[in-house]
Amino acid sequence: MDFNITGTMIWYYYICPRQVWLMSHGLEPDQDDENIRIGRLIGKIAYEREKKEVDITTGKFDILRTEKGRLVVGEIKKSSRFVESASKQLLFYLLQLKEMGIEAKGELLIPEERKKIEINLGEKEEREIREAMANIEKIALENFPPLPQKNKYCKNCAYAEFCWA
Ligand code: SF4
Repeated sequence: MDFNITGTMIWYYYICPRQVWLMSHGLEPDQDDENIRIGRLIGKIAYEREKKEVDITTGKFDILRTEKGRLVVGEIKKSSRFVESASKQLLFYLLQLKEMGIEAKGELLIPEERKKIEINLGEKEEREIREAMANIEKIALENFPPLPQKNKYCKNCAYAEFCWA
């Protein structure tokens, strides 16, 4: 199977590996625009960097600015419910940017909880994301999905009926 690991897959991986398999096999519960829009943005940053003029004003991350010459990308979330997945997804984007030669840091803002979480891609984080990517690939290449395991996200999961009916 030929497929690219996306930020959405990283997100799902940290919620439930079974979702990764279902999604990578085309069983998407709903279309996710966010992944496409961020993918496009990263492409745009890379392109503009080639031209030596990263235009951060047209970005589609919720947060996109420079701070002391360093790019800051981030997302605004309504609650910290999915904060682990959101952090890992942001780390994945930071890794993609790094591979394009762009050092950036991440920021997650949760205004309703007055929280600001800084996300930095250190060696440990990079190792973890690369490992997650390898695991995602392994899961996706399996012939069958991992068995469902009840977790705190099942209740609101779009696959719930499929898993537990
Ligand atoms: S219902 Fe639960 S086990 Fe099934 S895909 Fe969703 S989170 Fe995973």
